[in-house]
Parts: sequence; C-alpha cells; structure tokens
Amino acid sequence: MKFRKYLRGSRRVLAFVFVASVIWLLFDIAALRMSFNDVSQDLKEREFAQKQGRRKDDIEDMGFKHPLQPVNVDKGTFIKKGNRFDRKVKDVYRRGAKARQETNDLARNHLNGGKAYKEDSNRSNVLITMKSVVKEIIIIPEKNNETKTMKAKMIGTHLDDDEEHHRNNTVVKSHKDVGKHENLVNKLLKPGNDESDINIDSTEIHSSNKTHFIQKPTELILRGPSEEAAMLFNSTDVRMRRSGRLHKIMALDVTDRPRDPKAIGQFGQPAKVPRDKEVESRRRWGEGHFNVFLSDQIPVDRAIPDTRPHLCSESLVHDDLPTTSVIFCFVDEVWSTLLRSVHSVLNRSPPHLLKEVILVDDCSTKDYLKEQLDVYMSQFSKVRIIRLKERQGLIRARIAGADAATGEVLTFLDSHVECNIGWLEPLLERVRLDHRKVVCPVIEVINDKDMSYMLVDNFQRGIFRWPLVFGWSALTEEYIKKNQMTDSDPIRCPVMAGGLFSIDKKYFYELGSYDPGLDVWGGENMEISFKIWMCGGEIEIIPCSRVGHIFRGDNPYKFPKDRVKTVERNLARVAEVWLDDYKEIFYSHGYHHLLDKSITDIGNLTEQIQLREKLKCKSFKWYLDNVYPDLNAPLVKADGLIFNVGTRKCLIFQNGSLSFDKCDLSNKSQHFSYTWLMLLRHNTSCVASREMHVIMEPCDNIKPHQHWVHKSGGVLVEHLMMEGHSQPMCLEAEVNSDGILLKGCDPINTLQKWQFTHYYTQ
Ligand code: UDP
Ligand code: MN
Repeated sequence: MKFRKYLRGSRRVLAFVFVASVIWLLFDIAALRMSFNDVSQDLKEREFAQKQGRRKDDIEDMGFKHPLQPVNVDKGTFIKKGNRFDRKVKDVYRRGAKARQETNDLARNHLNGGKAYKEDSNRSNVLITMKSVVKEIIIIPEKNNETKTMKAKMIGTHLDDDEEHHRNNTVVKSHKDVGKHENLVNKLLKPGNDESDINIDSTEIHSSNKTHFIQKPTELILRGPSEEAAMLFNSTDVRMRRSGRLHKIMALDVTDRPRDPKAIGQFGQPAKVPRDKEVESRRRWGEGHFNVFLSDQIPVDRAIPDTRPHLCSESLVHDDLPTTSVIFCFVDEVWSTLLRSVHSVLNRSPPHLLKEVILVDDCSTKDYLKEQLDVYMSQFSKVRIIRLKERQGLIRARIAGADAATGEVLTFLDSHVECNIGWLEPLLERVRLDHRKVVCPVIEVINDKDMSYMLVDNFQRGIFRWPLVFGWSALTEEYIKKNQMTDSDPIRCPVMAGGLFSIDKKYFYELGSYDPGLDVWGGENMEISFKIWMCGGEIEIIPCSRVGHIFRGDNPYKFPKDRVKTVERNLARVAEVWLDDYKEIFYSHGYHHLLDKSITDIGNLTEQIQLREKLKCKSFKWYLDNVYPDLNAPLVKADGLIFNVGTRKCLIFQNGSLSFDKCDLSNKSQHFSYTWLMLLRHNTSCVASREMHVIMEPCDNIKPHQHWVHKSGGVLVEHLMMEGHSQPMCLEAEVNSDGILLKGCDPINTLQKWQFTHYYTQ
C-alpha cells in the first residue's frame, strides 16, 4: 500500500522521474568509466608507439621543401638546416615537401601531448550534465566509486534547493560528503570567482541528445567560471567581455565518442595499405593526389600529436578574444579529408570563439559534395554551406566566404587540413593585439602517402624567390640570437603560404580583399602579402598555432583554362600592381612572353592601382628595405660607364647620337644601365639596332632589336650580342670614327668587349 501511495498523482510522476534519472545517471557513469578505460588504453598504445619509434619516411619531393624538424624540442635546442632554397623551383608554386622524419623522440614526446599525461589521483574528473539548461555537476573522484552530485548555478539558472531541482527534471543526489570537490565546483560555477584554475584531465559533456568527450586535453584551464561554462556549452551569447584578463591557451580536443586507439592513423601515426588493397589504393590516388584510400580508413576525428613548442601551453591569451568565422573553400575535395578538416576545427576550437564554419563549394562536380554533405553537416549548427553557381576559383570563392562571414576575424583554411590542439587562440590573440596583424599557423605536413602527421622545423618563415615563387627559409642563428627569440615567438614573414591564415574582417575589406581578377589558383598569396606589408599591416607565423596540411603533387581539380597560363596571368597582375620597377626582375625570370600585353591579356588593373593609391601604400623598395632585406633584388643587372676594352674609351650619348670618349664617371652622358630585360638604357633612351646601324630610341621592353645579350662567362664573354639574329651579331667600337656598329661576333676581338663599372648579378 505504502508503495502504491508513492505511485499516485504527482508523486507518481516524481518517482518516475527519479527512477529514470537514476538509470540515466548510471549510464553516464558507465560511459565515463568506458572513457577512462580508453584513456588508459591510449596510454598503452602510446607507450608501444614510443618503443617502436616512428619509422623514417620520405615524402615526395614536389619542389619546395618544407623542412621537417630533426630535433628534440624537449631540450629546447634546434639544429639549423640552412636555407633549403637551392632546389629547382620553376613551375612550382605553393608546393610541399620532401621531408625526412627523424623525430622519434619528438613524436614520442608529442604523442604524450607534449607533456606528461598522468592519471593524477588528486585531480577530479568532472562530468557536466546538461539537459535543457545546465543544472548540475556530478563529480566522480577517480579513486572512489561513490558518485557525488551537486546543485549548481550556471548560465543564469538559479537552483536554490532540491525541490527546485526536481521541478526542473534534474537529478539531485546526496549533498553529503562532497568535501573538497565542493570547492572545486564552487570555483567552477560561481560567477565572479576568477581565481580558479582547474585542471581537468578528461571531461565528458552531455548535451540534450549527445555526448561529447573532451579527450586528452593536455590541460583545460578554467578561469572566469561562468564564462567558461558558456564556452563549454557552446553558447556565444553568454560570452563575457572582460578586457585585460588572461588565461592559458586552452587545449581542447572534443570528440563525439571515445576514440579508438587502434584505429588506422590514430594519433597521426603512419597508416599502411594492406597488400590486397594496393591496387585499389593506387587507383584512387588520382581522386585527391594523395592516398585517398587510407584517408577514408582514418577516423574523421583522429587524435594527432600536440606538436607545439613547450612554452605554448603556458602562454597567456586574453579572455576577450575576437570571434572567428572559419572559411573552407573547396572544389571536388575528398570526402574524408573535408570532414576531417571540419571536425578538427569543431573539436579543437573554443566554441565561444568559433562563430561559424563556412564551407564554400566552388561548383564541385562530385555528387557526394551535394546533398550528402548537406545532410552530414546539418548535425552541426555552426556549419554553413555556400554553393557557388559557377566555378570561381579559390580567390573569388574566398571572397564569397568572407562576404557571408559574421565573425570578427576571418580564418581561411584549405579543405585538407587538421587543426592541432590550441591552434586558434594564439592566432586570435595577435589580431586582438593589432587588427593589422595577419597571422598564419605553422603549416605542418600530413604525409600524402601514409597520412601521418609530420612535424616541421622551427623558425621557418615564408619567403619568395624570383619569379615570385613561394618557399620556406630558416631564420639565421644570428637573427634568433639578436632578437632573443624562443621557438614560440611569432615570426615575421615577408610572404604567407596562402592557404591558412586569420585576418581581421574589417581590415580584410579595408585592404580591398583580394584582387578579384585573379583566377582559379596561384599568386593570390603574393598579392595579399605585398598588400598587407606595403599598406600598413604585418604577416606573422605563430608557432603556438599548428595546422597539418596535405601537400599534393598536383591539383586534383580542373583548371577551366590552361593551368600554366592562368597562374602566369595572376602573377603578372600582381607584378604590375605591386612591384614597381622591380617587376622587370619578375619578367626576366622566364616571363618575357607576358610583357606584350597585346598577346597576353592580363585584364584591367585600374581598380587595383587606384586602391594602392587610395590606401597610400608604400613602395616595393620600402618593402624590400624593411621587410625582406635579404632578397637579392637589384633594380638593374649592371650600370655605370660602359668601357670598351679595345679602344679603352667609354660609350657616351650626347647630342642625340652614340660615340666614344675618355672615360669620366662624373659625366652623366656616359651613364648607362643594363636592365633585367636586356636593354642598354640611358634615361629613357635605349640602344637599338636598325639594320647594321646602331641608334638610340625610346626604350621599349618588347622590341627585340633593343635586346642585348651580355654574358659574364662562356664564349662571347663581355660581348653585347643582338638577340634573335640568325647570325650572332655584336656591338663593335669603330676606332676611326668613334662610332659604333653591328658586326658578326668575334670572340677574340677586343673592340667587341664591353665592361660595366658595376655588376649586381651574374
Ligand atoms: N580551391 C577552390 N577553387 C579552385 C581551386 C582551389 O575552392 O578553383 C580550393 C581547394 O579545394 C583548396 C584551396 O582552394 O581547399 C587551396 O587549393 P589547393 O589545396 O589546391 O592549393 P595548394 O595547397 O596546393 O596551394
Ligand atoms: Mn592545399
């Protein structure tokens, strides 16, 4: 009877709720246990990995080397590898990487999250339970099976007593014996208590219908409790802005279910194609120009080693960082890599900073990227997909993404990346410091063959060589010493690699975004880099932010027009707008054919040139002097007097004609320069051939009869040979008349040998 009484009326409901809740709670505990088991299993696996060591591995040489780190960052040392620029870079734009993995110690270290992941009995594992609104925190001490539950005040929900809890359908267990954990929870939940630093090793968060596991965070520092709670529960609304306050970089790594430590490629380990799948794996390579077969086997939310320099996890960032919209542009991206890219952002970014993830489909042709992708992404409220009706190319696709973004900062990422632990806050911190800082993560290498996550050398900066070819170069030891740099300090970069960076949204538009006249791919990293530096901004690589990227040997998508022509045209636009007279150096490195604008239409540049004027951007010379002084960029190849070896006199241009005179450095009429485009120039006049005569006429880079080949070595050394004649024709001094003629080249005739006062390049 007594029992029945409990089942009557509203009490019946209460009893039901109570029983149901207890059952639910038991499930929770069981789930948490499982995740502990997984963690200890993880540790075993990692130990195993340590013993094995990582096998050495090469990744394909695709031109530009992204040097991998051959050092043990544990000891804080680094070995300078020198500038790897000595490879053939022609026709290679932003390409990876041949890399040698010699990082056994390092990998071992980083598989442990860069620091010891210990099961520390003094620490509690906190299970936060959320139904409609967060209402309770259950603390489960590791060494004690007893479950302790507390009422809590969180995100504006005030729960005063047990009754109120029951009304809200929330389980409340005994308040007895809460002991020290009460303090912990109080610290966590009490608004205004900012002193709390609470480390949590493994946290499980239940939202209405999902369980999220925060796995293996190296540490999750909670400070400013209600704000943190808001973060955990994905609520940007509750975010508080309290400027000036700092916290340690958060090391989040959230997953929807416990990770399987045995999964292929887990922890960024190399994966292997089974014998019987080799044919299939080879067949599928072309889908993405990397090992698509393996990518599909690897979990979309795999763990990767925390490769950050040690100081990073101790670095402080502000509580009031700006929010960001992460923009992925893609065309025909491989399903599993696209998903892994998105998951890595969702799982490793503090939710209150991640305003949204925008996927810009640049008119992909693959079916799976349509409805199937819509359905998959619909489970994530933050992910939006924008479909471009026509193929726009990555530059205009990024602009479309930026136009749709609502975050304060735009973060562009390629669609085949894996963001590492703690990647976002260090980027946003720099933008907060100065909105004109444009910041890039360290781009690490996801091996295209075995999909392993590889570590790159420290102290690398992005540079270019002629003809505007991007590459990496190590900072010199002197520079590091002089600036007392540690491996976690930002690195100023003359140019960015292009695919991955964060920029203040307003600043992006102040800069006129990208030149929308750039097509498909290529050159846009140069354009935005010059624009940023010359118009008042800065580019930095932030070593505490690390993102893996699959460097591919070839573009897996089609270029609507010829690939080479598209890239060349983009580069010519950049050169015309930003390089001033230095553009000649660009054209002279294999791009002479672009000079004739009647043959190559590079499009209208008026708006870009006006933009540069409007923004009062500095000159390219300023850029070279201040940002990239180590680039060898003399404006001309040689200049000064032109000395004729046979006559021992110098060339002079006076009264409209060329002749010889006694050499006199102070006489401006004797000053000539030999340009990158092979002109012999005196002010705006150039030496030209007309039949067998030699005259002066207005300079014009595209006229072959103004082109003189002047070699410092070889057979016709010191000769000035006419370009493009069937017979080699050379400039020769005429002794009798002090005139100058075009004659058949003669290697030993000293009247055909000419020397400049200064040579700037060979
Ligand atoms: N992309 C695009 N449209 C294009 C070309 C490229 O949206 O016409 C995307 C591509 O899917 C990738 C990003 O832009 O996410 C950068 O391209 P890619 O990875 O080929 O450049 P790389 O890393 O080789 O420089
Ligand atoms: Mn890429």
